[in-house]
Amino acid sequence: MKSYTFVFVGLLAVLITVGLIFLFVPTSPPTPHVLPAPTNIVFLIGDGMGFEQVKAAGLFLNGKEGTLSFESWPHQAEVSTYSAGSEVTDSAAAATAMATGRKVNNGVISRAIPGDDRPLETILERFASMGRSTGLVTTTEITHATPASFAAHTVSRGKNPEIAECYLNQTRPNVLFGGGGTLKGDAASAAGYTVVTDRAGLDQLDTESVTHVAGLFGEGHMPYEYDYLAKKDLQYDVLPRLSEMSRIALRILSRNPQGFFLMIEGGKIDHAGHGNDLARNVHETIEFARTAQLVMDWVGGRRDTLVVVTADHETGGLKVVCGNGKGVLPTVTWLTKGHTPVRVPAYAWGVNAHHVSGIMDNTQWFQIGLGLAPLPAPSTMPAVAEREAAAMFAAGR
Ligand SMILES: [Zn+2]
Repeated sequence: MKSYTFVFVGLLAVLITVGLIFLFVPTSPPTPHVLPAPTNIVFLIGDGMGFEQVKAAGLFLNGKEGTLSFESWPHQAEVSTYSAGSEVTDSAAAATAMATGRKVNNGVISRAIPGDDRPLETILERFASMGRSTGLVTTTEITHATPASFAAHTVSRGKNPEIAECYLNQTRPNVLFGGGGTLKGDAASAAGYTVVTDRAGLDQLDTESVTHVAGLFGEGHMPYEYDYLAKKDLQYDVLPRLSEMSRIALRILSRNPQGFFLMIEGGKIDHAGHGNDLARNVHETIEFARTAQLVMDWVGGRRDTLVVVTADHETGGLKVVCGNGKGVLPTVTWLTKGHTPVRVPAYAWGVNAHHVSGIMDNTQWFQIGLGLAPLPAPSTMPAVAEREAAAMFAAGR
């Protein structure tokens, strides 16, 4: 009897020891999950385009919400937009977060502020360093905050000459299409860029051979879509629209077998939001959606490309009250002439698009675009500001 007890206790001791070994001896760390990275990225930003702006444009265009081109894409999310110093971001801080994965103060163009003020590498620069082509297309002046944050580094968004200098002599995107003004044609030519200034010039480009093109279309921001349709401003008789610029940009950039990064901004959705101007807002959003469709037509069945539609922030605190049928503006209310802290929509298609779901933060685009495991959203938004924002927008979105 005694010996049985002894054997039993002995076995138990062995089992416990083995168990402890399994518990405490470290096994090899899990292999880092390296995700496939897109070869090409088309990143479309509707400046100031919140959920309600999308809804309003769908109601006007098709008489039904949920009907804009990108609203049928398979992966969708809500994205938080606050900057390092404020629950309400500006375009510079928001675009910097998207381009670099880092929150900065409002007004800062891709520099570590707060921090040590070093230039923050942007996804466009990373793509260029991999031998890929890069491009910026916008309806604002080409040196404006959103495009600048992808290809320049300045302490302030107002330093347009510095931004132009950075484009031409440092980052050198292959395609720079937008409003001219600060970025001068002769400076671009001197830096080795082919310069075009209207639709005819753009159409005559030899897209098979041109390497660096500056399309400087008018002085300052480009005109509103609505003003052309209402015959108030006829500049689009000679200037290319967002979708036309984007078509040529894709043609040039996609020649590179290594891949490309293209940022396309519907920049004037924001301006119409600041003016609480629904007609202009809706028509800018429709042209932006037309551009997204054109990108998808180009992408076709490619398996190497990520396409994203999102916004930097919402502008105006727009709320759709009801639709009034196709071709008629919906009934809406506006809350402010400024930006708001509400989350913005995101729609994605292609490589790594499955990471776009639920609630995201704008810093996560950098990881998703580079095929790095997306970091969790930082939780530095002041709790009070978050509560205020939630209360302010409890009634809608
Ligand atoms: Zn704005």
